[in-house]
Amino acid sequence: MIRCVSCGEEYNNDDVIYTCEKCGSVLELVPESVDVDKSIFDGRKDTLWKYKEFIPVDESKIVTLEEGGTPFCKCDKLGEELGVNLYVKVEGSNPTGSFKDRGMTVGMTKAMELGVSTVGCASTGNTSASLAAYAARAGLRCIVFLPSGKVALGKLAQAMFHGAEVISINGNFDEALEAMTALALEKHLYLLNSINPFRLEGQKTIGYEILHSLGWQSPDRIILPVGNAGNISAIWKGVSEFYDAGFVDSKPMMTGIQAEGACPITNAFKKHSKEIVPVENPETIATAIRIGAPVSYTKALNAIYDSNGYSETVSDEEILSAQKLLARKEGIGVEPASAASIAGLKKLVEMGEIDKGETVTCVVTGHLLKDPNTAIDACTKPVEVDANLDDLKKLLLNK
Ligand SMILES: *Cc1c(COP(=O)(O)O)cnc(C)c1O
Ligand SMILES: [Zn+2]
Repeated sequence: MIRCVSCGEEYNNDDVIYTCEKCGSVLELVPESVDVDKSIFDGRKDTLWKYKEFIPVDESKIVTLEEGGTPFCKCDKLGEELGVNLYVKVEGSNPTGSFKDRGMTVGMTKAMELGVSTVGCASTGNTSASLAAYAARAGLRCIVFLPSGKVALGKLAQAMFHGAEVISINGNFDEALEAMTALALEKHLYLLNSINPFRLEGQKTIGYEILHSLGWQSPDRIILPVGNAGNISAIWKGVSEFYDAGFVDSKPMMTGIQAEGACPITNAFKKHSKEIVPVENPETIATAIRIGAPVSYTKALNAIYDSNGYSETVSDEEILSAQKLLARKEGIGVEPASAASIAGLKKLVEMGEIDKGETVTCVVTGHLLKDPNTAIDACTKPVEVDANLDDLKKLLLNK
């Protein structure tokens, strides 16, 4: 069953619907009661489909690239520096290099169940890269809208190379999404942005995996970047479902980090409000979270308030320095938006909001190579020299 998170109106799983017909709010899948022991997951292949009992789609229609089961790296060097027990969930290790693949495998499976022929999304980049790959796998027509000039190079390459029809929209992400949604409401295509509640049924498995990786314990806190706010909502849904199933006996504080130039959720949180004021011209180097009117804000704010969590902003400078810190101290390469989680951790420790000794999981959402230009700009150019031993020794040994 699909249910409106605001008014409680109920819909059928096969209704092609993205927002509540009564009140316009966002929708979610109501968990079916699953009576299984957590040992059933043992010995299954390490993809998110190992949790299939909790994923409400028809398994015979599955479209998968074996997503999920991503690394859960204990980061002692960085953790000690910050005074916390730190784990990093590396979502860049998914098939197309971001967590969007988790949502897409479930969303595309639903699309096959519904028998649609065309899928579409608006995207800051990663959703389009993922959708293009999964649509190719499923054999469906794929249309994507991207904000003109603001998509990182790696993501654009993926969307085009997998054969999506890529349209560059003169406008920002919010405007592109509005246009794409209008097409979907006229039933020209099936919308696979995260307003589609089946997307979040895939992404909630990040929460499942974190609890499972910690030996069926919850971390004190999960920190992640927030753009359109689907992922923080999904992860909270995941951890709540496994808590309700009795697999763990506590839940984490959900901590959402936004960029200073695109922070409607943090603004609402600081005013103790459940409503956002959209940011008209969102701007940040972290293009994946350059979003002014997040569609899942209601779910995200519920997650933050219900978990006794927090929301904070970080500057582009803090993002870039956290990106470098994670790469050079722990060997984990992530795109700028992902580094917002690390930058947020650092800031909240300094503010005293995060206690020393907390067990913290930072979700890093996308791979370094998604945005090669930003990475190269952050480094000095390689020195050019002949392959001559004397010259090389002069260069390398006389420092
Ligand atoms: C999509 C994305 C985000 C933001 O996730 P939301 O669900 O929109 O809040 C953050 N980082 C990366 C790399 C992304 O691709
Ligand atoms: Zn409603």
